[in-house]
Amino acid sequence: MYYDEENIFAKILNKDIPTEVILENKYSIAFKDIAPRAPKHLLIIPKGKYIKYDDFLNNASKDEIYGVFSLINELVMKFELQRSGYRIITNAGNDANQEVPHLHFHLLAGRNLGPM
Ligand code: AMP
Repeated sequence: MYYDEENIFAKILNKDIPTEVILENKYSIAFKDIAPRAPKHLLIIPKGKYIKYDDFLNNASKDEIYGVFSLINELVMKFELQRSGYRIITNAGNDANQEVPHLHFHLLAGRNLGPM
């Protein structure tokens, strides 16, 4: 499977599509989901070209992996989500209906999210 250079998150990273970046570090950025499913719905993506979770864990450096997960934690702290709770989801591949073929984590919060 090859990385699609034309995917929408590649365009966001290249700044071909303007996006308000909520938080950023050396290896990742966070921005709002365009179709939020909760009062707070953010997407966290690596800056590197990874298609999905297994591609990332198998091929990224430990610094890149730590960079993405620590940015998620920074968002949790920034919005004090540790108090009320939150959900982290990543859809990987066909059976998960992954729409955008650039790894992303959904961070959802702001209401009771119901069962999975
Ligand atoms: P997934 O089904 O896990 O691949 O989720 C892709 C997500 O990307 C969906 O929740 C979309 O609403 C979101 N999305 C698609 N295009 C954009 C965009 N330009 N900016 C922000 N979020 C987007």
